[in-house]
Amino acid sequence: MKGAVMNGLRIDGCTVAFGGLRAIDNVTLDIPGGAITALIGPNGSGKSTFVNMVSGQIPPVAGRVLLKGEPITGLRPDRIVHRGLARTYQVPKVPKELTIQEVISVPLLYARSDRSLPPGVRNAADMARYCGLRPAVETRCGQLSVSDLRRLEIARALACRPEVLLLDESMAGLSLEDTEQVIALVQEIHASGVTVVVIEHVMRIIARLCHHAIVLNQGHLLAEGQPHTVLRDPDVREAYLGKGFTL
Ligand code: ADP
Ligand code: MG
Repeated sequence: MKGAVMNGLRIDGCTVAFGGLRAIDNVTLDIPGGAITALIGPNGSGKSTFVNMVSGQIPPVAGRVLLKGEPITGLRPDRIVHRGLARTYQVPKVPKELTIQEVISVPLLYARSDRSLPPGVRNAADMARYCGLRPAVETRCGQLSVSDLRRLEIARALACRPEVLLLDESMAGLSLEDTEQVIALVQEIHASGVTVVVIEHVMRIIARLCHHAIVLNQGHLLAEGQPHTVLRDPDVREAYLGKGFTL
């Protein structure tokens, strides 16, 4: 486990504050390298803020973030990408007028070339195909469905050649069939050697896909451990469902 922690992400006493609100409040945890970790918690518990914090969009006001044992706190987001961390956005952020090809090509051109791309992927069209994007690569993003925008977010992040990939609700709002395809994609990304963190609400998916789970509640770490154990924890159930509620 020690080696796994060294290869992953360590959050050491981190706080992110918006005025008086501590969206992340003195959180210490480890995300083991080589695993698929679920980051869960009710709406507003700080999950997206956590992703913004580790990726450098909103640096913590206190504490340290370590990637593979090296501090990355306070580095610019593009420097953090170069260190090997990429993320997707819960609300897809792609300019409507750009094409699939353009969105994937930018990180492909600028990513460090000494890290590997997924097997068989050499260009933007390969990456689009790998992520299950069916429209032609000349298609403008404004014309894409939610499902394709979520796949494009993953394709763009993978084009950064990450060692650690954070997926912020990549399966939200997808049909059952699309969800199954994205689960298979996440498993394939993990099998190619990438450490993955998924933010997800559906317990069935978490139990099936993830090796480790971390629960946030009101900016605090509520629980961490094996998904089956964590999902049975009475405090976790109460945070999701309210006091006195039993399944
Ligand atoms: P989650 O992703 O778990 O639903 P968020 O990280 O988006 O939660 O939000 C955590 C808390 O921080 C919420 O109370 C939210 O309103 C607040 N928050 C998030 N981003 C900002 C921001 N940019 N400015 C002010 N408050 C924010
Ligand atoms: Mg969120």
